[in-house]
Amino acid sequence: MTAKLVKGTEIREEILKEIAEDVKKIKDEHGKVPGLVTILVGENPASISYVTAKIKTAKELGFKEIQDNQPDDLAEEDLLALIDKYNGDDTIHGILVQLPLPKHVNEKRILNAIDPDKDVDGFHPVNVGRLMIGGSEVKFLPCTPAGIQEMIVRAGVQTEGAEVVVVGRSNIVGKPIANMLLQKGPGANATVTVVHTRTKDLAGHCKRADILVVAAGVPDLVKPEWIKPGACVIDVGVNRVGEKISEKTGKKIAILKGDVDFDAAKEIAGYITPVPGGVGPMTITMLMKNTLASLKFSLEKN
Ligand code: NAP
Repeated sequence: MTAKLVKGTEIREEILKEIAEDVKKIKDEHGKVPGLVTILVGENPASISYVTAKIKTAKELGFKEIQDNQPDDLAEEDLLALIDKYNGDDTIHGILVQLPLPKHVNEKRILNAIDPDKDVDGFHPVNVGRLMIGGSEVKFLPCTPAGIQEMIVRAGVQTEGAEVVVVGRSNIVGKPIANMLLQKGPGANATVTVVHTRTKDLAGHCKRADILVVAAGVPDLVKPEWIKPGACVIDVGVNRVGEKISEKTGKKIAILKGDVDFDAAKEIAGYITPVPGGVGPMTITMLMKNTLASLKFSLEKN
């Protein structure tokens, strides 16, 4: 069997179109647009490229966007004051502080200073707690897990009653996606197992999975014989395994590999995400969706 490819590059386009339509409607009815600020401290090249991609997408969707670049030596108190300013700005619905921050800044203190109702990354402890409770408590889902859930649902894979196995228990992927698929409601209602480095029989657990979500950061960790025939395999891993020259630009680019042995797995799985072009493109998309949701929450409040 050859699995159906579930491509983030395609699903992203569907969702961005929906967001753009909503933005236009709200602008016509209320004269407001979603506002997103990205705060970048220093000049880390990877961070600059992430922020640039976020800002570009926000602009294309008609958001108000502010790219607030600050010097590397910005004092922690000054960064807190900046966050406070945006917390109180009614035209800003999402605040994103690009990580990593310079060493002299306490990352936790900074992230916890963001108003939970503008925490479109979904990592503030209040939003983690809301996700744990579930239902109408939930405001912002963390972006990568939210993207994974959208991919599963939009691919038409049944989650209700499904055996889900999540490989990895990080706070940004493993734990939240396990929690989301466990909730009561559509796109969830699954029976979820989370496995990690101390799990005794990793292969045995994976073999049971109707939906296998792999977020370990280990290239080719999941072998084809660990996959149940017809399963939906979501490969979150992004591993740099070498470099090559891009045919398009002639420049050196990284060779990326997922956590699943893709070529062999696609002959067994029913659905599979490629790397690159799978989960990756969904993260920024869900950030935009959260920012739009934040504007909607603020309209409901007023
Ligand atoms: P992380 O914080 O390093 O967590 C990795 C998890 O995988 C840990 O819970 C670890 O177990 C588990 N693990 C590692 N090796 C394992 C093994 N051999 N067997 C079983 N479990 C193992 O990583 P992360 O931040 O969740 O990211 C995971 C991967 O997803 C990375 O490749 C990352 O680049 C990628 N990622 C992609 C996106 C995106 O596409 N947008 C976003 C986020 C992350 P222990 O807890 O026991 O150590």
